[in-house]
Amino acid sequence: MSNIAEAATASHADHSDPLLEALGRIVGAAHVVAGIDAPEALTDYRRRYVGRARAVVRPASTAEVAEVVRELAAWGIPVVPQGGHTSLVGGATPDDSGEAVVISLKRLDRVRAVDLDNDTITVEAGLALRKVQDAARDAGRLFPLSLGSEDSSTIGGNLATNAGGVQVLRYGNTRDLTLGLEVVTPEGEIWNGLRGLRKDNSGYDLRDLYIGSEGTLGIITAATLRLFPQPVAQRTAFIKLATIENVLALLNRAREGFGAALTAFELITGPAYALVEHQLPDERLPFAAEPKAERSYVLLEVSDGESEQHAQEALERVVGSAIENGIAIDAVIADSLAQSQALWRLRQVNLAQSQLRDGRVIPHDISVPISQIPQLLRTTEAALQQRFPGVRVFAHGHVGDGNLHYHVARPLAQDESHVAEHENDIRALVHRQVTALGGSISAEHGVGRSKRDDLPHYKTPLELALMQRIKHALDPHGIMNPGKLLQG
Ligand SMILES: Cc1cc2nc3c(=O)[nH]c(=O)nc-3n(C[C@H](O)[C@H](O)[C@H](O)COP(=O)(O)OP(=O)(O)OC[C@H]3O[C@@H](n4cnc5c(N)ncnc54)[C@H](O)[C@@H]3O)c2cc1C
Repeated sequence: MSNIAEAATASHADHSDPLLEALGRIVGAAHVVAGIDAPEALTDYRRRYVGRARAVVRPASTAEVAEVVRELAAWGIPVVPQGGHTSLVGGATPDDSGEAVVISLKRLDRVRAVDLDNDTITVEAGLALRKVQDAARDAGRLFPLSLGSEDSSTIGGNLATNAGGVQVLRYGNTRDLTLGLEVVTPEGEIWNGLRGLRKDNSGYDLRDLYIGSEGTLGIITAATLRLFPQPVAQRTAFIKLATIENVLALLNRAREGFGAALTAFELITGPAYALVEHQLPDERLPFAAEPKAERSYVLLEVSDGESEQHAQEALERVVGSAIENGIAIDAVIADSLAQSQALWRLRQVNLAQSQLRDGRVIPHDISVPISQIPQLLRTTEAALQQRFPGVRVFAHGHVGDGNLHYHVARPLAQDESHVAEHENDIRALVHRQVTALGGSISAEHGVGRSKRDDLPHYKTPLELALMQRIKHALDPHGIMNPGKLLQG
């Protein structure tokens, strides 16, 4: 991802700019880079936004973050907090005014404490999610947050976006995994809320306010997170089903059959699966793709506290009975780590790769009550085909959480300008369907820049007014990540 360090050594603080000089005195000149010298920090992951910044600054401690923010507040300079810069909604990319300073949290990367009796770990915000998982494992515990971007996204970014991922079904999203936060306010004060408490009803929950606030209320510098026992065994199965209704029937069976051992239940719809086969012919898939668009595939994982054999038997029993009862058509159960990793690769890597090769898609990160998923898929496809004949829908996602990544691609006979031309109308159509079913237009990626202007259509005026009041109360000068999440 962004290699600000290289840029830093290539071009240290520009001493002709008094702001950069002042920042250099706080963090060291090597850790202040003129914006123009840090292009990776200015372009979002999907390469949709290219911003400008006066500087990118890399503090190494909470005290330095606070001092930098105080300095910027005194100058009235907007601040863009940045972690791994993997936001899929342009949340950590500065606008093109060139006024903002990007604060990269990546040098705050220490594990501060592990408390095994309390089952918690306290880490700094810039630590990559993978390293948080590793530190938990080294202590004999599990930190279960797991995303496709876990090598490069940071725990601070995960908290600021309330990230979800593949194990929400069992362990909840980032909010559910967090007991305490340390935050630098827009005035440069340090709030130490690193309490590892599971019960604390002593007033408004500031922690919950900052989680999911997308850098618009303050900078998260550290967190105290919940740990869990390591599962003794994990087993993965890949299951083919005739229809999306069968997927829900299988989900019910799996919940009953596995209870808390069910840790992932991921859907890949037929067209998304067929595209992997078409675009990535060298990948070995568990089943040959079929032309029927109704076909659905589920990646299911159980994490067992007893033994490998117990996990295997439970999986064979539940999946076997689903096939016997006509819920599922066929299934493969991975019998080695390599096979399990190959199935996860299909879900986490190949789907995205195949769509990238196919061309531009219009992504939607949506959620509805799980029971509404079949209707959402059917009514949205029908409405899209009526209005934009021939568009192709590649949907997959965390169906056990009611969350789908619903990607719309050009008709085969058209070139990419088709989706560019109709993007706003397609997005509005999909979001209307989602809202009509009581859903959300942002299930886990956040609002950032790309959904900011959609939000007023899907929140009530009162919800928006309350959010604006909170923003104004905590960030009265509006310097924190302006232009993200909320309009003006
Ligand atoms: C391949 C891939 C797979 C993904 N899969 C998932 C998934 O399964 N589930 C999911 O939820 N997301 C997913 N994402 C989206 C993304 O990885 C998450 O939103 C992640 O939590 C962002 O972390 P980051 O460190 O990269 O944050 P950034 O992109 O740097 O920032 C994201 C937002 O948080 C703010 N921010 C960052 N750090 C801080 C901080 N310390 N304090 C305050 N604000 C801060 C930024 O200003 C911005 O608004 C995926 C992305 C990719 C590229």
